[in-house]
Amino acid sequence: MVEDRTDADVIVVGAGPGGSSAAFHLARHGLRVLLLEKTEFPREKVCGDGLTPRAVKSLIKMGVDTTDDKGWLRNRGLRVIGGGIRLELDWPDLATYPNYGLTRTRLDFDQLLAIAAVEAGAVLTSRTTVTGPILDRSGRVVGVSATGPDKEPVELRAPLVIAADGVSGRFALSLGIAKREDRPIGVAVRQYYRSDLRHDDEYLESWIELRSREVPDKLLPGYGWIFGLGDGRVNVGLGVLNSSAAFGNTNYRTMLADWLAGTPEDWGLADPANADGKPQGAALPMGFNRVPHYTRGVMLVGDSGGMVNPFNGEGIAYAMESGELAAEIAVQALARPAGTARERALAHYPAELKARYGGYFRLGNLFVKLIGQPQIMQLATKHGMPHPTLMRFVLKLLANLTDPRGGDAMDRVINAMTRLAPAA
Ligand SMILES: Cc1cc2nc3c(=O)[nH]c(=O)nc-3n(C[C@H](O)[C@H](O)[C@H](O)COP(=O)(O)OP(=O)(O)OC[C@H]3O[C@@H](n4cnc5c(N)ncnc54)[C@H](O)[C@@H]3O)c2cc1C
Repeated sequence: MVEDRTDADVIVVGAGPGGSSAAFHLARHGLRVLLLEKTEFPREKVCGDGLTPRAVKSLIKMGVDTTDDKGWLRNRGLRVIGGGIRLELDWPDLATYPNYGLTRTRLDFDQLLAIAAVEAGAVLTSRTTVTGPILDRSGRVVGVSATGPDKEPVELRAPLVIAADGVSGRFALSLGIAKREDRPIGVAVRQYYRSDLRHDDEYLESWIELRSREVPDKLLPGYGWIFGLGDGRVNVGLGVLNSSAAFGNTNYRTMLADWLAGTPEDWGLADPANADGKPQGAALPMGFNRVPHYTRGVMLVGDSGGMVNPFNGEGIAYAMESGELAAEIAVQALARPAGTARERALAHYPAELKARYGGYFRLGNLFVKLIGQPQIMQLATKHGMPHPTLMRFVLKLLANLTDPRGGDAMDRVINAMTRLAPAA
């Protein structure tokens, strides 16, 4: 009898963007949702804090108010710097995505989404660390073990668990789902700086070439960003991909300092006295580097399923989109009796993820391999950057921003390429 007790229809592990989005959409459909989070909000999360129109669309779907006076800084596009050229590319005008991006620190961004989930009806339990799955005799997950706020062990049961516990993927790992070594992964570090000059930039700034101050003319092996936050600070960081020879054997913090030391003095980034906090780093799991995305009563969402876009390192939008998709499929599945019919509905989750992102991620994985070779990257920068039309195409491709139907010629080419590529 005890076995049949359930504490929720769905347990969501982790209240990052993926978990909160899943919890919001589940609760909105009337399901009982338990959202378990090991930290307590507000809390820092290492990130670039940049949101493209893809992420803004997901925010709008959650009813989040993105108007200017609500603590956001709006951006109108991407400024690309490389090959001696600075190019400002506005986000495309599309039917299916807004034409602006946003920045906001994860300190309260994640809290905002968790609050939206709670307002929709989810029950959020903070300072609760999930320690592993509870399995039935067949090996199916029927709940989670956790330690609660007072470190007391708890067991919580539900017919479905959504693992949204981020890049460590501990929950998936406990079920034997390891990350795939043949898929791309990046490591990135970021630091906040006070910068009167750069803090209210209208563009997200992306550096595709980083030069060393220490060794003039030396190209550093990563890609950098400077994102204004509108609050007197900027988020500055750089990332290195595992296709680069420098991956894993470089001191990324030293490299960040070396790059910033060469930036114009009035930006304030060359002076360590303007740093706000320490540089912090984390990994970016890309291109579906952890599969399967559904097994034995567990759906993987966001970073836990390796869903960062290999083209641009964006992970928030994909965490939120996969959270929404997992929720929609869970709602249908749980309306069916347990057994074959429900499993058929749940198997639709990995299939739909593959259909939506598989071809695109496959191209992205190839892109990561290519740009890991400095000669190829330099050639592409030299011959691509001088051509704004080509770069507008590159922006659409890298940010995955096209209209699926009725778009322009660029949209049609990108959509055809991603349709034809075998799914990752
Ligand atoms: C340096 C850096 C810069 C980045 N910049 C950007 C950017 O500018 N834009 C962008 O879109 N993406 C960026 N990303 C990627 C982005 O941060 C992630 O893709 C995104 O946070 C994934 O969301 P998620 O909900 O899947 O996981 P997370 O945001 O990692 O959330 C996971 C949550 O689960 C909780 N949790 C973990 N384990 C447990 C447990 N056992 N029990 C309970 N709770 C648990 C964690 O506390 C956390 O709240 C960047 C990443 C890095 C490292």
